[in-house]
Amino acid sequence: VLRLEGVYKAFGDTEVLRGIDLAVAEHEVVALIGASGSGKSTLLRTVNLLERIDDGRILLRDDDISDPRVRADAVRSRIGVVFQHYNLFPHLSVLDNVTLAARHVQGVPRVEAEGRGRELLARIGLADKAKDYPDRLSGGQQQRVAIVRAIATRPELLLLDEITSALDPELVGEVLDLVRDLKNEGTTIVMATHEMAFARDVADRVVFLDRGVIVEQGPPERILVDPVEPRTREFLARFT
Ligand code: ATP
Ligand code: MG
Repeated sequence: VLRLEGVYKAFGDTEVLRGIDLAVAEHEVVALIGASGSGKSTLLRTVNLLERIDDGRILLRDDDISDPRVRADAVRSRIGVVFQHYNLFPHLSVLDNVTLAARHVQGVPRVEAEGRGRELLARIGLADKAKDYPDRLSGGQQQRVAIVRAIATRPELLLLDEITSALDPELVGEVLDLVRDLKNEGTTIVMATHEMAFARDVADRVVFLDRGVIVEQGPPERILVDPVEPRTREFLARFT
């Protein structure tokens, strides 16, 4: 579904991504781990064209989306994204948040978009909140709405950037359960996470990033339990 080839990105003198090669298969869940500043968010942002890369290529299916002539809107409509903070539009109801992209980007008629939107809300147990504004919801509920909003357009790929790190610990579980459900349905996901237990549980592959380079990657049980590279070991030692 997604392929990064020699992706390079610098901000001024700071080299943030230094030659990233990464291929993500259909239905695969890839967890990006690494210290703060290692480049996880930047990598996700380059895929969504929030940052343009300086060198290399990014392919979404067979389309070179890193080609400067490609329109960002067209690419973003194929990718769902959820960030750590401020995902929902505060001035729109929960239902309008969920249906916005389907209606305005994809041109799905209102009745149809709202039908699907209500189904998605029912699925996360928030059908009765459809007409509320986001500030009436808990952080965990807001993040779950943000996730169903991201999948409402049936994107080819879902990018999740530290979606639980701003939540109170007791709200993390309900958000992670939803991600686990999406994985079981076959959603292709690339997520940056500090939740090692979760990465171990749902990821098909864990990719350890250090200073803009992929140092080591493989199945979670190997990378998280028995890493080969000293830098991976050092990083993981902080979590035990
Ligand atoms: P965290 O775990 O804290 O979220 P991260 O792995 O997501 O970290 P990034 O946010 O990708 O790291 O940042 C990587 C590096 O790029 C950092 O040194 C950061 O300061 C720098 N950086 C990111 N965005 C910009 C920007 N717009 N301008 C300048 N530097 C930036
Ligand atoms: Mg980040």
